[in-house]
Amino acid sequence: MFQNDCIFCKIIKKEIPAKIIKENDHVMVIEDVSPKAPVHYLILPKKHIINLNHLKEQDRDVTWHMVKMAQEIARDIEKESGKETSFNIIANNGADAGQSVFHMHWHFISGKNIYLNGLEL
Ligand code: AMP
Repeated sequence: MFQNDCIFCKIIKKEIPAKIIKENDHVMVIEDVSPKAPVHYLILPKKHIINLNHLKEQDRDVTWHMVKMAQEIARDIEKESGKETSFNIIANNGADAGQSVFHMHWHFISGKNIYLNGLEL
């Protein structure tokens, strides 16, 4: 379930502090310690999985719980703003793709157009 030297596992076990936005039995949402947008959260499965490359069929519910959590966060923001929330979900998988913490996570980014600085998809 957990890996001893993983910083996100330590946050999930509440051994080190983080700003916890939401959690349930499967998923925790924390604020990114170095936010790059007005809303920059990290959606973490509680089970230690390195990244999408390492996700197994037996873990398929994990992604559904992450999706449901993204929807919940969006609806929470919506309640405050009064309009449907626009957001990006970003997952860096592997060091060459920018992954720096090797516990699967999705960046939930809202309140910033990430395409204004030249990024094209
Ligand atoms: P990535 O580079 O995609 O692996 O994303 C890792 C993210 O984790 C970065 O945006 C970091 O700012 C964030 N991060 C690292 N350590 C912590 C921490 N202790 N609490 C919250 N966010 C963290």
